[in-house]
Amino acid sequence: MKNIVLLGSTGSIGKSTLEVVRNNPDQLQVVSLTGGNNWQLLAEQAREFRPRFVAIAAEEHAGDLRLALKDLDVKVGAGSSAVLEAVMQPGADTTVAAIVGSAGLQPVMTAISAGHQICLANKETLVVGGSLVMQAVARSGLKLVPVDSEHSAIFQCLQGAVHTPPRRIIITASGGPFREWPVEKLAAVTVEQALKHPNWNMGGKITIDSATLMNKGLEVIEAHWLFAVDYDRIEVTVHPQSIIHSLVEFSDGSVVAQLGWPDMKLPIQYALSWPERWQPPVAALDLARVGSMTFSAPRFKDFPCLQLAYEAGKAGGIMPCVLNAANEVAVHAFMQKKTGFTGIPEIIAATVGAFSNCPAVSIEQLVAVDIEARQRAREFIGGA
Ligand code: NAD
Ligand code: MG
Repeated sequence: MKNIVLLGSTGSIGKSTLEVVRNNPDQLQVVSLTGGNNWQLLAEQAREFRPRFVAIAAEEHAGDLRLALKDLDVKVGAGSSAVLEAVMQPGADTTVAAIVGSAGLQPVMTAISAGHQICLANKETLVVGGSLVMQAVARSGLKLVPVDSEHSAIFQCLQGAVHTPPRRIIITASGGPFREWPVEKLAAVTVEQALKHPNWNMGGKITIDSATLMNKGLEVIEAHWLFAVDYDRIEVTVHPQSIIHSLVEFSDGSVVAQLGWPDMKLPIQYALSWPERWQPPVAALDLARVGSMTFSAPRFKDFPCLQLAYEAGKAGGIMPCVLNAANEVAVHAFMQKKTGFTGIPEIIAATVGAFSNCPAVSIEQLVAVDIEARQRAREFIGGA
């Protein structure tokens, strides 16, 4: 039985994780749940899954949540300190990290120091604090198991390959809704158009990241840290059908891939069942129904976020943290209609350009850089 802390239970990954828990009651139970501000859903989830502790990050909803759960034997906490308290509940041994953005970094560090197995969806944690997170994981002796579908695919391809490190990693990308759009039309993209992902049903921020290709850039950095592979050996290929979730090339040139329907329940369940496999959470793959699979090179010039991410990743130090903070602010501004679609990479490039690099030495330093980079990005938006 795994005893789970679920960070971000009210989000897209959080809800799918609870579906996996619901389908595997003999293997999984929930110790604590955390959400950002959707107290109604959090209350419903607490009623069904009966955790010992529930945390809501937005303190203004603490009263509503407490009232909604007053007949249950569950402790309710509020604010970011309560999210950390949720992680430290006695008896918990596994944390599913499904908060969006750099807000997930500190809870993940807390979960690592508590000795939990980490199932990581929150890629921004590795983008911002990759070296420090991986050092802490190495010290803990535990494994960080990816939930992100591409990284789950790579992780699965590498099972049993301890003596044969990968020569190359090929991450697949759907290309997003504007894959075939002429570059001239991108400036006029609306929020509604960008929120319509062709294959995956996800939270708002990652859906916009998928449209700009920043999601793929963040995934390149995530793969660098998870699999200790240099950037010049991590490639991206556009595969609009999203059936091959990623590929690994070995030293003899052999390429291994993992396939499945685009549904996050499979990688979430694998992260929780690893090294075992349980009953399938989705329908069997039907290759005849897939019909054909196609591949092409990403349009680096027309979608500059991917290149910006490669550059920040290669630069290392605090640069990926700056890139991520600027992206979070720019995506938020786009969703609020305060900047256009092509403004997103412009804001990021300007913010990154305003920083000089230095080594990443502590989480406290990265938290400070994150705040400063957000401030800079907001200034660029204000001045635009
Ligand atoms: P989402 O927006 O649907 O959910 C985010 C969750 O985090 C919600 O529960 C929200 O309340 C909570 N949250 C937001 N800000 C918070 C804060 N400051 N403090 C505490 N909690 C906060 O996002 P999602 O699509 O579920 O994505 C979650 C993470 O998983 C992201 O890092 C994303 O990149 C990654 N991921 C998502 C998918 C997917 O299919 N949705 C796939 C791969 C990776
Ligand atoms: Mg992914």
